[in-house]
Amino acid sequence: MKNILDMSINEVKDAIAAVGLKGYKADQVLDWIYRKKIFDFHEMTNISKKDAGLLGSRFSIDIPKTTDNLRSSDGTLKYLLELADGNVVESVLMEYSYGYSICISSQAGCRMNCSFCASGKDGLARNLTPGEMTGQILAVSAASGCEISRVVVMGTGEPFDNYDNFIKFIETTNDRQGLDIGQRKLTVSTCGIIPRIYDFADYNSQVNLAISLHGTDNESRSRTMPVNKSYPIEKLIHACRYYINKTNRRLSFEYALMPGINDSIEKAEELAKLLKGMLCYVNIIPVNRIDGVTYKGDPKANVLRFYDILGKHGIHTTVRRELGTDIGAACGQLRRSHADKVQHRNRQG
Ligand code: SAH
Repeated sequence: MKNILDMSINEVKDAIAAVGLKGYKADQVLDWIYRKKIFDFHEMTNISKKDAGLLGSRFSIDIPKTTDNLRSSDGTLKYLLELADGNVVESVLMEYSYGYSICISSQAGCRMNCSFCASGKDGLARNLTPGEMTGQILAVSAASGCEISRVVVMGTGEPFDNYDNFIKFIETTNDRQGLDIGQRKLTVSTCGIIPRIYDFADYNSQVNLAISLHGTDNESRSRTMPVNKSYPIEKLIHACRYYINKTNRRLSFEYALMPGINDSIEKAEELAKLLKGMLCYVNIIPVNRIDGVTYKGDPKANVLRFYDILGKHGIHTTVRRELGTDIGAACGQLRRSHADKVQHRNRQG
């Protein structure tokens, strides 16, 4: 049975017409799902019992199940969502002055294996489908009752390692009959899969792009981000310049400060040199400590020094506001602790 959430808006219309229902029925179904957050054909009150039965025999509406959530003292809510096949992913709901923003996952697990990140520690389980990405927004918005106005694809997984599904997801999210969230309110972050950066530049949308840089030279970047061995930094920066020229959009670079690894005065100077003249800004994140990884020093110690050096060189810089640190904010932590609990239970049982 086909999951309606995995279909584009036009595919839903075609498929509902193909089972013999009038065009406006598809509009009604889409309105129930994406506006009213109703995920059962029988609860759609303007759809007859007979039509609901017919739709239910052909299509499913697979909404991830909200199994567990954690509320931080700052109001951030982290949800653990169970997919139809039992895989779990996490989504984080954050409150800002402009409204609610959600951080969603693009894969169950990740195969990039960045040293500082919890998401890659158990490898990749599988890609998420487009509907499992929109499903996270629908499930969290239904469970929390919050109107979500921004989406960042910065949870577990590498979205550009699941590119086609990611593109289909942004189209439904953006569609007026889908989630109707404007392209400028969407942000995707990549660790630097260069061919997809070119594809995304040519796709030429207004979706924001962030690059996880975290290093200024191949030697040090490859040590924390194995992806750099296939896609080295000079080629990455070249792709970034292409993206900026093509889309005329400001790019953001994420730089997680890791004490003793990339937070020195020299690294700040190198970063400024690397990015000089680019239409970009840098987002400094004091690295979140994860289990099994230790640093020699405090991730926050050199944040201001780094910030000042970049500023002196005219590079627009922000320091990421930390949300939800008390509930395990670093990517993949809740999913991992869930896996530990399950393993522990299995070992005991
Ligand atoms: N795979 C994508 C998106 C997911 S990660 C990417 O790499 O961009 C979202 C951001 O959080 C990335 O910049 C990632 O490098 C960063 N991140 C992961 N673990 C972190 C940690 N422990 N502390 C700080 N930032 C982290």
